[in-house]
Formats: sequence, C-alpha cells, structure tokens
Amino acid sequence: MTTTTTDPWNIPQGHTIDIPRAEAITGWRAEWVFPARGGALLYNFRDGHLSARPAECLEEHDHPVPDPECHCGYRVVRDLHHLAAYWKAYRRTDNTRGKTFPVYAIARVRGFGRIARPRTDPQYIRDDPPGTVRVSRMSIARTIYAPRDRAHYFADGLESFYSLVDVRIYDHLDDLIEGETP
Ligand SMILES: [Zn+2]
Repeated sequence: MTTTTTDPWNIPQGHTIDIPRAEAITGWRAEWVFPARGGALLYNFRDGHLSARPAECLEEHDHPVPDPECHCGYRVVRDLHHLAAYWKAYRRTDNTRGKTFPVYAIARVRGFGRIARPRTDPQYIRDDPPGTVRVSRMSIARTIYAPRDRAHYFADGLESFYSLVDVRIYDHLDDLIEGETP
C-alpha cells in the first residue's frame, strides 16, 4: 500500500508495489480460449467480463499474491513482440511432441494491484519473456488478437462475448513480432 515513484516494470527483485486501477500498467498476455454456449471465452475473463478475478496462489502458501518468492499472479508482458516471440518458440516445442496445441489469443491488458517481478532463483527460473511482471488484478484494455487458423472456431465467438473490445485476426505470430497491425 504505497505511493511510489518506482516504475512498475522495473521493481527491484524481491520487492512488490501496489498501484491503483487508475495507474494501471498496460501490456500483453496470452489467454487460453475455450468454446462456450453462444461463443468463446478467455480463460481468465469468464462470462465475458473484462476484469479477471483477483489472482490466487495455486500453491499452498498463505500469502498476498503475487509473492516475490512464489510464482503466483497473472503474468503481463510489456512488449507485444517479446510475448509473440515467446509463443512462437513455445508452439514449436509443443508441435514436436505431436500434440494439438490449445488455442490462445493474445490480449492487451491492464495490470494493477500488487505487482512483482518473476522469481529468478536458478532452481525456480522460468523462461518468461523480457519485460514480464506478475500482477494481482487485470482487465482487458482494448484489443484481442486471435489466430486465423482457428478463426472458424472462436473469432466470432470472442466478439459475441467481448463486444466492447476490438477482436482482430492475425495470420502469423511473425506479424505480431514485427509490430505490424494484422
Ligand atoms: Zn504464491
């Protein structure tokens, strides 16, 4: 509960800050898409709500979320091209295992509440894209990018649930990496 001049994207490792909704950061996040009656939904934005429920810790720790020494919180990435490159690599890895990759959309989101950097201890390190922070609260800011290859499956469905948001179709993650507007 602080008023601070600390840049939320550059919080010292091991620290947290709290920022109100009015001072939310804006970044990007990949969200799993699943079919629902009457359309398609983003996993953390149920029932078409533009605000996610407050983040909860999936481990058994009793602490505020995100905790600097844990992995909890919603991950938000500052730059679209960093998130897109991460997903491109992740999909390639998954494809080599012959699995059907779930459908993910990339959403422009606001992050606020409690904020922390990802934990970086070697034994816990994850390959978060550069410019990743963890937040306790988030909402959809403006845009959802949905991949064309599954468009028949959910693009219209997303629009039906998130009518206040601009749902755009992209052909390739490279388009997002290069910063083009699909
Ligand atoms: Zn936790």
